[in-house]
Amino acid sequence: MILYTSTNLKQKNAGACSIVVPIYNEENVIPQFHFRLNRVVKLLDIQVHVIFVNDGSYDSSTQIIENLTNLEYDYTLINLSRNFGKEAAMSAGLSKADGDFTIILDVDLQDPPELIPSMIDKWKEGADIVCMQRNKRYGESWFKKASAFLFYKIINRLADCEIPENVGDFRLLDKKVVRELIQLREKNIYMKGLLAWPGFNQVILNFDRDQRFSGESKWPLQKLLALAMDGITSFSTKPLQIATYLGATIASGSFFYAIWTVLKTFILGETVTGFPTIIVAITGLGGVQLLSIGLIGAYVGRIYNEVKNRPRFIVASEINKAAAETSKVI
Ligand code: UDP
Ligand code: MG
Repeated sequence: MILYTSTNLKQKNAGACSIVVPIYNEENVIPQFHFRLNRVVKLLDIQVHVIFVNDGSYDSSTQIIENLTNLEYDYTLINLSRNFGKEAAMSAGLSKADGDFTIILDVDLQDPPELIPSMIDKWKEGADIVCMQRNKRYGESWFKKASAFLFYKIINRLADCEIPENVGDFRLLDKKVVRELIQLREKNIYMKGLLAWPGFNQVILNFDRDQRFSGESKWPLQKLLALAMDGITSFSTKPLQIATYLGATIASGSFFYAIWTVLKTFILGETVTGFPTIIVAITGLGGVQLLSIGLIGAYVGRIYNEVKNRPRFIVASEINKAAAETSKVI
């Protein structure tokens, strides 16, 4: 990844800021999130517009947001018609973001709002994307950490653009990056890849990722595997090439083995034995063939989803509230 130091970046002036917050059943977290965000926003000298995207929550998340008081920020609450997943919720939020830069923030306080001022400083110094890289990942199982490590190694081997390791969706994006992102029309999205794809000046800031404030991760293993598959198939066709190479290698191996068997029979006079060899060859080849068909299937499935051309999400309703509308108790 090419990182730009503050010396080769052009200074920018602070303007309005948008903050996109995807929410799925987070009633226990929202009040604390609001308290901490409010405290940070109060110290900023810029206009802040928070875009809460309610991704089909069935708890009281929406009511809690609508009843927030003492707001230091304006907000828009976008209610999606059902749960479309975090990737779609973020893209719904980005399509509404109108600030000079936009920050994507999880509501569970794993992405501390207190880091926003240092992200803005980097933007002022000229960065177009500020990636927040996790040093430590508290409250995550060794399995999740190990699989994330392996996933980044694999995807960066395969993908054409570099996807920074251990950087989640917690990022600051300049408005020109947001403008490019919302023009990408693909339906099956892998946000961490899409956020890396436009390029621009990227800067990395490190932080220790806290545990969730309350509740549980909404990413069970099955969803994570689907996300990993989406990530790989949307950023690389190399698995298809690998299948071709694998097929070619096995086919040539079997050709040479056939010649060797013929020679052995005629020259050395050995009778044809090898029941185990047949079993190994059949099962091995069967496995490789099924794997390759599965791979092709994954790409065909993506094409199928894309040509259907359904929207990424449906907005059921939208509420706007300005900071001034809520009573300010000091
Ligand atoms: N989220 C969402 N839709 C979903 C799942 C999650 O909007 O289908 C939101 C969730 O409310 C939170 C953020 O995405 O604000 C991150 O989710 P989570 O904490 O479960 O993910 P993790 O931190 O475990 O990767
Ligand atoms: Mg979380």
